[in-house]
Amino acid sequence: MPTAMIEKRIGETLLVGYSLAGEETVIAAPELNVCFDIGKAPREVISIDHLCLSHGHPDHAAGLHYYFTQRWFINNSTGTAYVPEYLLRPIQDLMEVWTRIEGRRTEARLVVARPGEDIPTRRDLVLRPFEVNHGVYSLGYSVVEVRHKLKPEFAEKTGPQLVELKKRGIAIENRLEVPLIAYCGDTATGDFLDLDHVRNARVLLMECTFFDEEHSDRARAGKHVHVRDLPQIMSRVRSPHVVLFHVTRRTPIHFARKLLHEVLSPADRERTTFLMDRPPRKRFHDEQNQSEG
Ligand SMILES: [Zn+2]
Repeated sequence: MPTAMIEKRIGETLLVGYSLAGEETVIAAPELNVCFDIGKAPREVISIDHLCLSHGHPDHAAGLHYYFTQRWFINNSTGTAYVPEYLLRPIQDLMEVWTRIEGRRTEARLVVARPGEDIPTRRDLVLRPFEVNHGVYSLGYSVVEVRHKLKPEFAEKTGPQLVELKKRGIAIENRLEVPLIAYCGDTATGDFLDLDHVRNARVLLMECTFFDEEHSDRARAGKHVHVRDLPQIMSRVRSPHVVLFHVTRRTPIHFARKLLHEVLSPADRERTTFLMDRPPRKRFHDEQNQSEG
């Protein structure tokens, strides 16, 4: 059975994804042509050209070969996976083993992602990898829009005058960065939360795996976020939208929602949602229907 992918618009950003800890995590922003982790490669994300892999745990990475082979199958271009350096060789080996199993070579473009080194994906977009804090080396990724704005002192100049200034090597534009999304993969809290492109991201995708009080030790041992960590995380970030994902299967979503409500201030509650929660309007609609009948 295909996974029940969630599709919702958070602020201006459309997200399509599915995430349960240990089972599968794949979250795409189709309008930005970027996918974070690949889960089991659900069909909804196959046509997305840029795939950011956080780490090698199978719930995040198992669909990698399938992603590339399906793209070939539907005549898409090869597609690119950005991966932490230590995964490059094993993934190349994996592709090689599949060549032997399948009897056909699937093309895969693999690019090493390094913290702080921007990767351009579109004229106005870069991916910015950053190191997070997980049991194995793991990367998060920000999608940053880069805008160039004419400096105010040149606002009155004509087109030809601006060309002339440029020719003389004068910088006539300011560079403006807008972090659209920051995806933190699997992680405990860490210094990465203080990076400008993370804490100011318009949409911050933050894992929150554990909710039960007795799961605190699990969270520490596995380097995951526990709901009790959230107030501190929220105080460090300014994102208008924080989307929580990677909730454990041990905790039903209504219980997670209740605990989240207890720990967060009303203002922080307002900017926090669960990826796997149904869109607010539908829930509201359902509740209306229930109360009416
Ligand atoms: Zn995971």
